[in-house]
Amino acid sequence: MLGLMQDWPLLCHKILDHAAIQHPNREIVSRSVEGPIVRTNYRDVRQRALKVAKRLEQEGFQVGDRIATLAWNTARHLEAWYGIMGMGGVYHTLNPRLFPQQIAWIMNHAEDKALFVDLTFLPLVEKIAAEVKSLTKVIVLTDGANMPQTSLPDVVAYENWIGEADADYRWKALDEKAASGMCYTSGTTGDPKGVVYSHRSNVIHAMLACMPDAMGISARDTILPVVPMFHANAWGLAQSSPMVGAKLVMPGGRMDGEAIYELLTTEKVTFTAAVPTVWLLLLQHMEKNDLKLPHLKKVVIGGSACPRSMTEKFEKNYDVEVIHAWGMTEMSPLGSLATIKPEYAATTGDALFDIKQTQGYAPFGVEMKVTDDENNELPWDGKKFGRLKVRGPAVAAAYYGGAGKEQFDADNWFDTGDVAHINENGYMQITDRAKDVIKSGGEWISTIDLENIAVGHPDVAEAAVIGIAHPKWDERPLLVVVRKEGKNPSKEELLAFMEGKIAKWWMPDDVAFVDEIPHTATGKIQKTTLRDQFKGYELPTASSAA
Ligand code: ADP
Repeated sequence: MLGLMQDWPLLCHKILDHAAIQHPNREIVSRSVEGPIVRTNYRDVRQRALKVAKRLEQEGFQVGDRIATLAWNTARHLEAWYGIMGMGGVYHTLNPRLFPQQIAWIMNHAEDKALFVDLTFLPLVEKIAAEVKSLTKVIVLTDGANMPQTSLPDVVAYENWIGEADADYRWKALDEKAASGMCYTSGTTGDPKGVVYSHRSNVIHAMLACMPDAMGISARDTILPVVPMFHANAWGLAQSSPMVGAKLVMPGGRMDGEAIYELLTTEKVTFTAAVPTVWLLLLQHMEKNDLKLPHLKKVVIGGSACPRSMTEKFEKNYDVEVIHAWGMTEMSPLGSLATIKPEYAATTGDALFDIKQTQGYAPFGVEMKVTDDENNELPWDGKKFGRLKVRGPAVAAAYYGGAGKEQFDADNWFDTGDVAHINENGYMQITDRAKDVIKSGGEWISTIDLENIAVGHPDVAEAAVIGIAHPKWDERPLLVVVRKEGKNPSKEELLAFMEGKIAKWWMPDDVAFVDEIPHTATGKIQKTTLRDQFKGYELPTASSAA
């Protein structure tokens, strides 16, 4: 017997319709690429998204066509996303921090037909456009007055282009399983792999993200997504914010501490989200200038492990709640959040920070398990770590073009490539990427744990731990440190700081000081490059062991 309920397909443009009906005047504020702060609202964004859809259709683009965007977070980028999806196209976000050749490779792989691009990235596109054979149209996200000279054929200023259409358009009636968006993983090892979101997965993901014990956002929030729309689907905020009718503050191209601080205070932002490196810059800026955060209530930190010292600083010095989250492009991207279950209601002080330091538990819509190498499920005891596997309605079932088949099993479990343990209350803690874990004498050492402790030292700006070949133990940890400006901690001082906080055999065998630690295009420590940099490095413990 079937239920007798309506078939109301979960389509992304319904989110924007809802925002325009229920929250028409709710503002979307952008730091424009041209410079000034500009203001619009959900009603106008929807009108303009309809024009985008109409213009795309007039130009002959069809359902299923991949339409790329190479742009910062602004209202125009948001309009482009919804316009593309509303005519049945697939928005494809490109990460400008990748090498031009990688971007060209990704565009060719996805066969992008058109491209919305910010002024900032026009020179980059001029370099690669000829290589992307499928590309027939470039729309520059600016107005006629700011449109520069360009060597590109078939290029148009966005405002002129949508100015030629009225908003008299009906969104395409689509199957909710139709593709809505596309995002490639950064491919730190091997070629990037394409993740293809559906309308259904995006809508379900937005709903799960809004839940009180997930991101917990509401119409009363003012949300600053610092996390770019080109990184892992902007953590779903481009869908969950209009879904609840929150005010949006889009930071454009400026993500330095001063610029972010200015938006947080002038726009009275209550909720924000980004990777730890962004918050490092903000905290440094605030400490240097003795600033406070009077309006901000909550910050979601993820993308790489949030150092405990960062959580403590936000909570103790600025009275801002930190929610540590974990996710992946392949998961739309939210996988878990460290909000507090009633089991920890009475937990306070350091013990509470222990919980907040985990990557949290999976919300409805995400199933999770850890297994050993033989695929046996490990107990949830907070100790035994193994491969983290997930499944759910907003988790990828395959990569575009069939790459990476080995990561998916017959029961839909997706192998994340992360190593983690889960405690008795469901709180998961990542100990490493499988390829970064250090194997010392057959046992595993968590590089994330070591890094976390090292950055807790007041003179350390950033820390990374890598395995170095060792004649007796196979591999031993090397701590690589960037010192804070004007500070000069010694190796002995740092090791003494770590002592007692971890098992003795986890202690780094050596400390190397560097000016800079390499990062990936999404702000993670690039361990592959770091390992190359320290190839052949001789640990002081190696000679005595040999
Ligand atoms: P990319 O690989 O393109 O940078 P993702 O954001 O999809 O993009 O990367 C996902 C990976 O980032 C995860 O598999 C995990 O290794 C790491 N990660 C994400 N959030 C956290 C976190 N809170 N703590 C530790 N690692 C994290």
